[in-house]
Amino acid sequence: MKRFDVAIIGAGALGLAHAYAAAKRGLKVGVFERSPKAEGASVRNFGMIWTVGQWGTPLADVAQDSNRIWREVLANSGIWHDPCGCLTLTYHEDELQVAREFVEMANDPTIRLIQPEEIAQRSPSVRQEGLLGGVFSEREVHVDPRSTIAELPAYLSTKFGVEFHWSHCVTKVETGSIQIGTQTWAADRIIVCTGSDYETLFPEHFADSSLNRCKLQMLRAMPKGDWRIGTMLCAGLTLLHYKNFASCPTLVSVKQRYEETHPEHTKWGVHLLVSQHGTGELVLGDSHEYGPAISPFNLESVDQLILDYLNTFLPVPEIEITLRWHGVYSTYDKQVYEAEVQPNVHIVTGVGGAGMTMSMGLGERTVSRILA
Ligand SMILES: Cc1cc2nc3c(=O)[nH]c(=O)nc-3n(C[C@H](O)[C@H](O)[C@H](O)COP(=O)(O)OP(=O)(O)OC[C@H]3O[C@@H](n4cnc5c(N)ncnc54)[C@H](O)[C@@H]3O)c2cc1C
Repeated sequence: MKRFDVAIIGAGALGLAHAYAAAKRGLKVGVFERSPKAEGASVRNFGMIWTVGQWGTPLADVAQDSNRIWREVLANSGIWHDPCGCLTLTYHEDELQVAREFVEMANDPTIRLIQPEEIAQRSPSVRQEGLLGGVFSEREVHVDPRSTIAELPAYLSTKFGVEFHWSHCVTKVETGSIQIGTQTWAADRIIVCTGSDYETLFPEHFADSSLNRCKLQMLRAMPKGDWRIGTMLCAGLTLLHYKNFASCPTLVSVKQRYEETHPEHTKWGVHLLVSQHGTGELVLGDSHEYGPAISPFNLESVDQLILDYLNTFLPVPEIEITLRWHGVYSTYDKQVYEAEVQPNVHIVTGVGGAGMTMSMGLGERTVSRILA
């Protein structure tokens, strides 16, 4: 029977990050993925390593560490990425006030309040009319999730000898072994990174937890011509969605205003993040629908809410929608669900909308903890 020092279940961002952390310590690592290639939340997201979103949370240090490790992995592997930073745009006085409050609290030279003139230089495509200012956070890195998650396994195999077993759905886990149907593999330590699939391996364990699922609708669009956004972008509605802004006193007014002026956007949890790949393609989203039962069907009206809001700060001249999809992530009220469910069997999931950002830092933290 083949034995690994560490077996990892799931080849999404979290699985790959844990594989990297273990393999760079010289451990023999095997990754088991049920699909022929990863197809979960990790390939469906914006690819925003959005460290600023974790500011002020209990995991802010892990987010910083994650940013550093992502940069190391991306540089060493040669995988495409763009350390372009992110602009949070404000068009209303109350949003500008939240931006001021946040920048003051953050007290970090890499997070600055900037004027419309500087915004126009960094991102000439942004709507200037009514623009009051914005937060520029320069640490944010953009990756193309589809190519990054597809290319990382080859890097981990070639450089660190990680073994990937694709189309291997793990059906049972016990201390010291994993099973795929009738095949058994031995492993000293097992790390379960199965994203929003709670039922297959530990249904009784998850039944008691406050894990939840969230569905997000997304689009890709190709603008006509050589049209670039310069940095990743978001605007007022995003202030309502990320914990880093949660303690800004003026956020209450912003929320109240949007509930009155944009009732459908707030009902469907629509805000807008925009990233742009090297090819020029834009990734646009998203919406938030919570609950255990995720509808397989997308609502055209929700996509339209996304596009309507896009136009308030990024008037793309001509745009062709090239793809529509939705993704599902797992959320947990304490930010990350981490549990040792049997001796040397660890689960890491529930990172919500920050799993790409947090993955490398969480991988490092878990592996150093379980080896200690
Ligand atoms: C639309 C969308 C946009 C987002 N945007 C961002 C963003 O820009 N920045 C950010 O930081 N985060 C973002 N997120 C969140 C982030 O994508 C997730 O938190 C993260 O990808 C979760 O990674 P994961 O590895 O836990 O899960 P997944 O990527 O879902 O991977 C789990 C893997 O486990 C495999 N698996 C499951 N069960 C088994 C089994 N029994 N045996 C073998 N394999 C199994 C699955 O096939 C899957 O490949 C977004 C999420 C969505 C849905």
